[in-house]
Amino acid sequence: MAKLQSVCVYCGASDSVNAIYIRLAEALGRELAGRDIRLVYGGGGVGLMGACARAAHERGGEVLGIMPKFLLAKERIFTDVEHRIVDDMHTRKMMMFEEADAFIVLPGGIGTLEEAVEILSWARLGLHAKPMAFLDEDGFWAPFFELMDHIIAGGFIPDPFRAALVHCATPAEAITALEDRRVVIDP
Ligand code: AMP
Repeated sequence: MAKLQSVCVYCGASDSVNAIYIRLAEALGRELAGRDIRLVYGGGGVGLMGACARAAHERGGEVLGIMPKFLLAKERIFTDVEHRIVDDMHTRKMMMFEEADAFIVLPGGIGTLEEAVEILSWARLGLHAKPMAFLDEDGFWAPFFELMDHIIAGGFIPDPFRAALVHCATPAEAITALEDRRVVIDP
C-alpha cells in the first residue's frame, strides 16, 4: 500500500508514570521521524505526549500538535513544532482524525482510551477505514484486548472485526502493521 504520511498518536498526559512508558513514547517519536512520517498529536508538552513529540522533533521529524484553548496551560503546549489552538475537545479530536491516515495508541488514561475507542467505534460503523495499532512493551493493553475478546465472544462485535484490533510490542512493528492493514468495513 501507499506509504503512511501522517500517524496520530494517542497517549497519556501524566508525568507520574513508569519511565518505560516515557521511553517507549520517545522511541516511537524517533521511529516516525526516521521514516519521514508526520506525528499528529494532542499538542501537549507533558507525559508521553511531550516525550513523543520532543523526540520526533529532535530527530528532525514533522510534528503537528492540536490543543484546545482551555488546556493550553494544563497540558503545557509544545510550541517548538507546528501547533493549532482550537476551541474545544471535539474540534481537537476531529482535526486529529482528519490529519492522520492511521493511529497508534500508547499507554494512557481515560483520555487515551476514550479517543481510541471512539475511532474504533467509527470504524465499526463503517465511517472510515483508517487502521489503528495499540503499542506497549509490557502488556499494558492486554486487559483491553481481553475485554474486546469477551465482547466478541458475547456476540456484540462480529468476529472479523478482531482483525482491526492490533497489538504490537515495538514502534517498528506497529508502523509496519499499519502500513499493511485496512480496517474491514462492515464485516
Ligand atoms: P489521558 O490518557 O487521560 O492522560 O489523556 C490523554 C490526552 O487525551 C490528554 O491530552 C487529554 O486532554 C485528552 N483527552 C481527554 N479526554 C478527551 C476527549 N474526550 N476527547 C479528546 N481528547 C481527550
